[in-house]
Amino acid sequence: MRIDILTLFPRMFEGPLDESILKKARERALVQIAIHNVRDHAEGKHRITDDRPFGGGPGMVMKVEPMVRCIESLKTLDSHVVLLTPQGKRLEQSTLQSLSQKKHLILVCGHYEGVDDRVRQLMVNEEISIGDYVLTNGAIPAMVVVDGVTRLVPGVLGHDDSSKDESFSHGLLEYPQYTRPEDFRGVKVPEVLLSGNHQQIAKWRQEMSRKKTQEQRPDLLK
Ligand code: SAM
Repeated sequence: MRIDILTLFPRMFEGPLDESILKKARERALVQIAIHNVRDHAEGKHRITDDRPFGGGPGMVMKVEPMVRCIESLKTLDSHVVLLTPQGKRLEQSTLQSLSQKKHLILVCGHYEGVDDRVRQLMVNEEISIGDYVLTNGAIPAMVVVDGVTRLVPGVLGHDDSSKDESFSHGLLEYPQYTRPEDFRGVKVPEVLLSGNHQQIAKWRQEMSRKKTQEQRPDLLK
């Protein structure tokens, strides 16, 4: 899979893409990720990427031409163009599953008051929000998508089953997990997990999963 990210802040991606599982996935060429500075596609001495909104109002709007030129320089028949915006559909695990099936993602990050709507009208296949709140720019939302998608690409996680049996994969939250020591400050690991009885362990995990979901996210059970 290839992912191209369009942003005004390429350096924001340096840390997250160079650590842990994302770093290894890139080194093993399971995903290719490239960052593009939209400013490189702006014209004039000052390479201006924003302007005042038509109709007035506060703030600035990202200009259409540099963004469209940048997308056009990358787009192929396999591309799926995603605009990160609080006005998009809220990101869910199922969205990540579907994005992970694509060959090529182009992630468009906005800034200021957002992006001239003609970018969306002319170029975008899907609008995604990472939640009902507003951040300063699209870099962190894009990183959320890259991280969530990359771990679903076959071969990226050490154990591919890790992403098949976790929170949201069966409409429930995951059961509590424990590792050594068996007793920490008097809080003991549930006996059943030490029993070696796989049937009992599976039953306990299913019950705990349901209980946790009922307590924290009853909306998922509806
Ligand atoms: N004026 C816009 C509005 O009210 O919908 C908000 C613009 S926001 C300050 C600037 C950029 O940050 C957006 O264009 C988008 O790329 C990104 N952004 C902010 N919050 C986001 C969210 N919840 N999900 C996805 N992208 C977001």
